[in-house]
Amino acid sequence: MAVLNARSVLVTGSNRGIGLELVKQLVGKSNRPEWIFATCRDPEGPRAQIGRVWKKSLTTCQRDTSEPSSVKDAATRVIERLKGVGLTLLINNAGIARINLVMEAETPEDMSEVYKTNVIGPMMVSQAFLPLLRKASQESPQNGMSCSKAAIVNMSSEGGSITTVYMWHLAHVVNYRCSKAALNMLTRCQSLGFDKDEILCIALHPGFVQTDMGSSVGQAPLTLDESVQAILKTLSRLSEKDNGTFVNWEGNTLPW
Ligand code: NDP
Repeated sequence: MAVLNARSVLVTGSNRGIGLELVKQLVGKSNRPEWIFATCRDPEGPRAQIGRVWKKSLTTCQRDTSEPSSVKDAATRVIERLKGVGLTLLINNAGIARINLVMEAETPEDMSEVYKTNVIGPMMVSQAFLPLLRKASQESPQNGMSCSKAAIVNMSSEGGSITTVYMWHLAHVVNYRCSKAALNMLTRCQSLGFDKDEILCIALHPGFVQTDMGSSVGQAPLTLDESVQAILKTLSRLSEKDNGTFVNWEGNTLPW
């Protein structure tokens, strides 16, 4: 069975929801990464659910992924902590949706805010950490690509699939759908651009999960535990044949 053996992992939007659960399950692994960087906008704020227990075993960073200076500061801090070692796995998890039920309710403000967070954020974060990802790839003794060597995982959504237009009947949320379709394209471009560096790039749909976001559009069937357990299993199995693809939490390929 494939095992995820990432030496260092960074998760954005890790104060609640899927990001927090990823961090919890990574901390709990018998072969836990040596470094886990849990970044979020406000580690001490009312929505932060990273308890003291978790904080002890983590490096937490206060970062807004849509603000260039904040992203640069995070990269500087991570470089300091890693002391010359690369970053193995970057999970661009932070995301927002401005819920509107019908097409006519969409606004330019929501479109641009959601694009900034869901597309420009992951682009800036990936660029800022690229030197560290390259380093991890060069340092790794492994052939080919994997999440244990060097990888960018962009948390996407099947809601951004132009083919399936997942859950249209529940909410139109055009801002969110367009942003995730664009994030999918960003992932494909990253996979081509970073191919020579052997950095695996993947767009991942976590399922319809019981989080603040998931529950805002209906009765989500998947618990956080189920989704994240399956995601970590899937990450352990990905290789170069998956580079630049769109998969779900169980590792099944989704149509763009
Ligand atoms: P939640 O709404 O529960 O959590 C979102 C997280 O993103 C929070 O930690 C939030 O921080 C953070 N975040 C938002 N904007 C920023 C920002 N600018 N900078 C830093 N952090 C930010 O969502 P989920 O956990 O459900 O979603 C996680 C990811 O999974 C998202 O990308 C989402 O699109 C995707 N997804 C989720 C699905 C679901 O059913 N739940 C389905 C498909 C995809 P703060 O507390 O500060 O707001």
